Amino acid sequence: MAEPFKKKTYFAMTLDPVHIGTGGYRLGRVDNTITREPGTNLPKIPGSSIAGVTRAYTAMAVQCENPDDLKKQKYQTMKRDQSGNPVVKKDKDGNSELDSNSQPIPEYYSCAGKGADGGDGHCGQHDCEVCVSFGFSRKSGSSFQGLVQFYDARILFFPVHSMIGPVWITCPSVLNDFCETLKSQSITIEHQGSLDNDEFIQTDLVEVDKNLNLGWLLLKNKKKLSPIKNPIPHLSAEIVNRAVLVSDKLFSRIVNDNLEVRTSVAIDPATGAAEDRALYTYEAIPRATVMWFDVVYNKPEYFRVDGKEIVINPAIKADVNWVNSNVEKGLAYLEHLGVGGMNTRGMGRLRILNMGG
Ligand SMILES: [Zn+2]
Repeated sequence: MAEPFKKKTYFAMTLDPVHIGTGGYRLGRVDNTITREPGTNLPKIPGSSIAGVTRAYTAMAVQCENPDDLKKQKYQTMKRDQSGNPVVKKDKDGNSELDSNSQPIPEYYSCAGKGADGGDGHCGQHDCEVCVSFGFSRKSGSSFQGLVQFYDARILFFPVHSMIGPVWITCPSVLNDFCETLKSQSITIEHQGSLDNDEFIQTDLVEVDKNLNLGWLLLKNKKKLSPIKNPIPHLSAEIVNRAVLVSDKLFSRIVNDNLEVRTSVAIDPATGAAEDRALYTYEAIPRATVMWFDVVYNKPEYFRVDGKEIVINPAIKADVNWVNSNVEKGLAYLEHLGVGGMNTRGMGRLRILNMGG
């Protein structure tokens, strides 16, 4: 099975509420709404958001790994002597000062971000971990679409409070889409067909014909949910054991009724006090939501950057595992630095559960 690409399905758990805004106002109960799937109205994290933030984090990781490789440094640097020290001279009073030629000069590229200066901020080299993986478009000529394609992160298990504590809901269509994408991988989630009536749920947590509340909704258990087998690497068994299957129609409804909604107030910078009439609300995907997304890694041997073969260094040709590991360096930072808005206010961290391999 020699395909020109490798697909990997990632599983992620939100460690904080995640807010990926729509960038505008919408009529509804909150001021700042999050991005949703148009057909199902389910919240999602767009692939473009994951790609953008992962590019920045991969660039950060590569810079940290190569502190002496100035090509990979993000920041402007200063002129240095042969041993790498800034050039210093003495002024007339004998004090040291930086040589005027040692002022920071924008000599080095930043492969993170959108590429300052019409794209010329990206180095565009055939051995760049960032530019090869995520692409670049330089106004001075060369461009490359990047070897990696990111797809939307979708909800798989969503936390809801109930009288027996937190439970995680899912639904047949979500599980079917998910199992479809996993056909090539050895993970299965078994469930028993569809739920024909919106008043029914399927779970192992309460006896058949007994009720369970999901938020404010009271629903009857139709039958036991067969145990979910071998689900997701490093996902707490607690979550899978507390799964509740609801109908497709109710799933979107319950998810949207149980998003985290926070209220905040704008602060007047002059007085440090709350501004009058500046109360605003925003919604977010809550903490402990389990999501999944696909990433497709194209094999570098089928591509050329500016007419050159893609290499790790002059002696080693790049392979798909190199591309994969470049991206995972960035994905690993998501659990510390987060994705989306309100990032400095305790939101956005996302843990990828199945790195490597
Ligand atoms: Zn680059």
